[in-house]
Amino acid sequence: MSKKIFEIFEKKLEKLKQENIYRSINDMESRNMMEITIDGKNYINFSSNDYLGLSQHPVVKEAAKTAVELFGAGASASRLLSGGTILHKKLEELLCEFKGTESSIVLNSGYTANTSLIPALADEEDIIFSDELNHASIIDGVRLSKAKKIIYKHADMNDLCKKIKETSCNGKKIIITDTVFSMDGDIAPLQELYEICKSEEAILYIDDAHGTGVLGQGHGAWKHFNLPQDKLVIQMGTLSKAIGSFGAFVCGANIFIQWFINSARGLIFSTALPASVIASAYASVKIIMEDKTIIKKLWQNIEKVMEAIKNLELKTTNTQTPIIPILFNNVEEATKASKIFNDLGIYAPAIRPPTVKMPRIRITISAGHTDRDIEMLVEAFNLLCQQLRPV
Ligand code: PMP
Repeated sequence: MSKKIFEIFEKKLEKLKQENIYRSINDMESRNMMEITIDGKNYINFSSNDYLGLSQHPVVKEAAKTAVELFGAGASASRLLSGGTILHKKLEELLCEFKGTESSIVLNSGYTANTSLIPALADEEDIIFSDELNHASIIDGVRLSKAKKIIYKHADMNDLCKKIKETSCNGKKIIITDTVFSMDGDIAPLQELYEICKSEEAILYIDDAHGTGVLGQGHGAWKHFNLPQDKLVIQMGTLSKAIGSFGAFVCGANIFIQWFINSARGLIFSTALPASVIASAYASVKIIMEDKTIIKKLWQNIEKVMEAIKNLELKTTNTQTPIIPILFNNVEEATKASKIFNDLGIYAPAIRPPTVKMPRIRITISAGHTDRDIEMLVEAFNLLCQQLRPV
């Protein structure tokens, strides 16, 4: 019997290989800011979400070390038992100030947050309207909830309004969107979404994983659009990207946060984040709030890369953020391009279906990239154009 079981998985893996979508993991041996070493070779990393380079900031690292000395390596229990520390509470207070909300709670990862908070929010009689390009963790969160799911076309407010009007709902309406779409780098039309939510008395749940630390002078997408605080808006975000640590948070009205503490399964039934992770996130958020030079550097780097893309007529998306995809006609071209980058010491793996419809190299820019790093990337773009003309 066991032979048969293994044959099933061997076949599945073989199929992925044949379709050129087999995934593997490349762990690094060392890292110094954006320089990484994998299998003895050095690269400049253009694939991390450390948009501000804060995971390497000396103050952030020191905060983690001090917290380990004070509280040890692991949290040892769920937050609802004895896993929390005074540092967790301090971070939540700071996040309220950062996002301008009444209350907040941290969760163990962005994936855990979306798959725990969305089912906690939505019941059988509710309807969730979800953007078709929302992150996998939102898709899974919606699946886990008992609500009816309606997918609207990507960032298409006419389609959303039409679908809302067509649907009768006895329960709550909840609209869920990424603020910055993780594979395309475009920004959701939050102003319009907010207006729709107001007129429909719907909850707006935003995933600001890639907007936090990047948009709105670091405060995120809500601030980017200068939208007012509203108790029906729930702002989820991660501590693992621009904040350079690990974990996630949700900010919003106190009543929602109290409900999440009492019903979000990924919060109740999982060990709390270690104090070191929390302390480093706290130090990062403080830096983002107080030192605007880092964000300025990020946007300068983005501008340089976008200018090169425009000059070379490389095909990209409607990106407005540090996520800059280079699009290709097929998986083979994207893989070849990734190899060209690889040979030049640029680390930017190809992203292939089913993760995205159109194969691409998803380049991510950081304030941690030096001027030389950006020049190297532009040189790689030039070589790419000579050797392989993308679409
Ligand atoms: N939401 C979005 C939009 C993301 O891009 C990601 C991760 N890439 C997550 C949630 C999950 O966050 P985490 O990595 O902290 O689990």
